Parts: sequence; structure tokens; C-alpha cells
Amino acid sequence: MPLERCTETTCFGCGACAAVCPRDAIAMTPGEGGFPYPRVDAAQCVRCGLCDRVCPIGATEPLLRAPRQAFAAWARDAGARAASTSGGAFTACAKATLAAGGAVCGAELRLAERRVRHAVIAEPADLPRIRKTKYVQSETVPALREAMRLLGAGRTVLFAGTPCQVAGWRRLTARFGERALACDLVCGGVPSPALFARYLAEEERRAGAPLADYDFRDKRDGWNLPCVRLTFANGSETRRPLRLDAFYATFAAKLSCRLSCATCPFARCERVGDLTFADCWHVARFRADYDDGRGTSLVLANSEAGERLLGDATVLWRGPYDVAHAIASNEPLRKPLGASPGRADFLSAALADGASPRRLTWRTLGVRWLVRAWLTRKAKRAIRFLRRGHA
Ligand SMILES: Cc1cc2nc3c(=O)[nH]c(=O)nc-3n(C[C@H](O)[C@H](O)[C@H](O)COP(=O)(O)OP(=O)(O)OC[C@H]3O[C@@H](n4cnc5c(N)ncnc54)[C@H](O)[C@@H]3O)c2cc1C
Ligand code: SF4
Ligand code: SF4
Ligand code: SF4
Repeated sequence: MPLERCTETTCFGCGACAAVCPRDAIAMTPGEGGFPYPRVDAAQCVRCGLCDRVCPIGATEPLLRAPRQAFAAWARDAGARAASTSGGAFTACAKATLAAGGAVCGAELRLAERRVRHAVIAEPADLPRIRKTKYVQSETVPALREAMRLLGAGRTVLFAGTPCQVAGWRRLTARFGERALACDLVCGGVPSPALFARYLAEEERRAGAPLADYDFRDKRDGWNLPCVRLTFANGSETRRPLRLDAFYATFAAKLSCRLSCATCPFARCERVGDLTFADCWHVARFRADYDDGRGTSLVLANSEAGERLLGDATVLWRGPYDVAHAIASNEPLRKPLGASPGRADFLSAALADGASPRRLTWRTLGVRWLVRAWLTRKAKRAIRFLRRGHA
């Protein structure tokens, strides 16, 4: 039987099995919690075993490497940095890949379709499409196939994604050697795509207008005070601190992530990508000069190919950073974040017909959550004010 290691709890939804199948016998379809799972059409399957060969379940250890170097970094281009989630390290490395004639595969938000999917780009003008964090599991299969086609034609492709997606990518593209590059993100889990679609629909109903733009991490108040920003077609705009936004709150409270995230084998300091990108949280505690409030990326170089790509990314400023500080300040570099005991009940209630996910979120998390989120925000603002006052 194909995909014997795949269960509801073990499958990452990376899509490598579906992308490799020569008979197109595997479809990624919504399963538990509205997350994508492979479904095999037995009538099409010729039992070639390719899907099992690329599947990363139970095969992650050999893919992992200890970081060789760590950096705090940001894009020298202030516009690219402002438009990025952290410091724009991804954009700088993507630009270097494109300048050398390669292609880049990353996640894009298709707002009209209310979904997130990977796409392959070959032009710098298309970079904004795949820039920025989207806190939703992305669909990968068509983009993986397109990337494989380009690799087969002799091109270099840089894949960016969650560590489990990168694990699928590396097993899928092993025969292309260093032309198949990868950067993984430090990842605290991915929320349900079906839940995201429900939230967007509810926001549009409440606003009485379709969404024109959605930013998962608006940095207008500074990198340390991020907001979710919703812009509607009627010109109205809503900005909320992350933990006061119902969809983000389900992510932070571990109510809406994939089952495999609770015990993620990639939540450790050894990494699966050639490079690793993350927020360089609490960087000011160790190096005040590395935090100007506009976003600082943590970059780990985990292979020779990763070090070379960083060397080519001359549009990236970087300063040496102690990997121990990075590990201490970023929990998914130490251990999986687990799941809330109420996760399954919450997801099935929120995905039921006629449910209001927003109301259900606040009922589940309670007033204490809202008060704590509000107080934390106030405290962060005060700390920023004091730091500036003493600067
Ligand atoms: C689901 C998720 C959870 C994360 N959790 C943490 C965390 O706990 N701690 C932490 O420090 N950082 C986390 N990050 C990473 C962080 O948010 C930034 O993406 C990272 O620092 C890179 O920022 P940047 O400024 O270099 O570039 P950006 O331009 O902001 O880069 C975003 C990159 O991530 C890719 N991407 C965006 N959304 C997705 C997605 N849904 N699936 C796969 N790839 C995607 C894009 O293609 C792009 O390559 C997470 C990211 C995601 C997507
Ligand atoms: S065994 Fe081969 S044909 Fe069958 S689903 Fe897997 S890859 Fe496709
Ligand atoms: S290859 Fe990825 S999507 Fe397919 S079964 Fe394995 S983990 Fe799941
Ligand atoms: S937490 Fe682990 S299993 Fe979940 S999306 Fe991130 S890398 Fe994949």
C-alpha cells in the first residue's frame, strides 16, 4: 500500500508525494481540521513506491544539520525591509538567486480565493507576491511540479517554506544536488486553511465589503508591536494587535494548528534548510545596536551552499550573533509548542455550518486572554518609550 507511514497525526501535508506521483493518483484534499491530506486513487496507482520514497515522515534525522554560523540581519533596501515580516533576509537571498538566473518558490496569499499557495517566480518584480509571512498552511503541489520542471531544465530553484515542507522538497529534489536550494522558517505551527477561509468570510460579512488586502504582520507601529491589518474594497481599514485578532489568537493559543505541529520533529536547533530565517526576538537584550525597531531577521547558515548564497546576497546587512542567544529567545528552536487540549472541539465547532469562528474564539479564550493581551501591548509600548527616552 502506498503511503503506509501517513496518518492524521504524522502527515505534514507537504505535498511531496502528490507532486512526485507519475500517475497523478494522489490528490491533496481537506481532512482533519480542514488541513490538506493525500488521498490515493487506487484505480490509478501502479504501486511504483515513489511517493513513499519522497515522504519525509520518519526520515527526518538524516536531513538535519547543526547551524554553522548565526547572524542578525536586515535588507539594506529600506522599502524591502519595511515590506517584510522580520528584517527582509528572505527578499535579499531571493534577489541574489534571481540575479544569478534562478527561480524562487514561496507562499502567496490569493485573497479572492481565500487561500495560501506556493508559487514559482523568476522575476524580481514578482517578489512582493511571495514575500511576508502568512500564518496559514499553504498548498504546494502545482508549485512543486513547476519547480521540478525548472530543475530538470538545468535551472537553480530556491524553495522557501516551513521545515516540513522543506523536508519534502529536499527528498523530492535530492537528485538535483545544490541547484535545489532551500530556506526553512523557524516554525511554531500552521493554522487551518479552512478556518482561515471562514474567518475571512466573516470579516467581509461584518464589514459589508470584500477584502482588498490582508497583512498578517503590519509593522507600521514597529516590528515589536505588530498588528493584523485588513483593508476592504470600500476603503475602510482595520488594524488590531496580533493577540487581539481572533484568527491570530487561535494560532497563538495553539487552537488551530495541524496535528503534526504538536510534536513537530523540526522544532530544534538542527535545521533542514541550507538557510534558516526567523524573527531575531529579544535581540536588544544582547545587542542593542541590532534593534532599531524596523525588523531584525535571525539567519542561520546550515550548509556550504547556504553560506555561498548569503555571500552572494550583498543587499543584506548582517552582524555575527550567538546561536545560543537565538535558541534561548525562540522556543521552536528548542521544542514543539504542543496543542491546546480544546483544539479538536474548537476546530470542529468553528468549521460547522453557520458557526461564527470569531465569537467562538473569544468565548473559548475568555476575558482573561483579552486583558492579558491588552496589558502586554501596553507594557511593550512603555518599554519602547523608556528605551527611546534613554537613547
Ligand atoms: C506558519 C509560520 C510560523 C512561523 N513561526 C515563527 C516562530 O515561531 N518564530 C519565528 O521567529 N519565526 C516564525 N516564522 C517566520 C517569520 O514569521 C518570518 O517568516 C521569517 O522571519 C522570515 O522573515 P523575512 O523578513 O526574512 O521575510 P518575509 O518576506 O517575511 O518571508 C516570508 C517567507 O516565508 C514564506 N512563507 C510565508 N508564509 C508561508 C506559509 N504559510 N508557508 C510556508 N512558507 C511561507 C514566504 O514564501 C517567504 O519565503 C513563521 C513563519 C510562518 C509562515
Ligand atoms: S505508488 Fe506510485 S503510482 Fe501509486 S500513488 Fe504512489 S507514486 Fe503514485
Ligand atoms: S509526502 Fe508529505 S503530504 Fe505526502 S504523506 Fe508524506 S508528509 Fe504527508
Ligand atoms: S510546526 Fe512542524 S509540522 Fe507544523 S508546519 Fe511547522 S514544521 Fe511543519
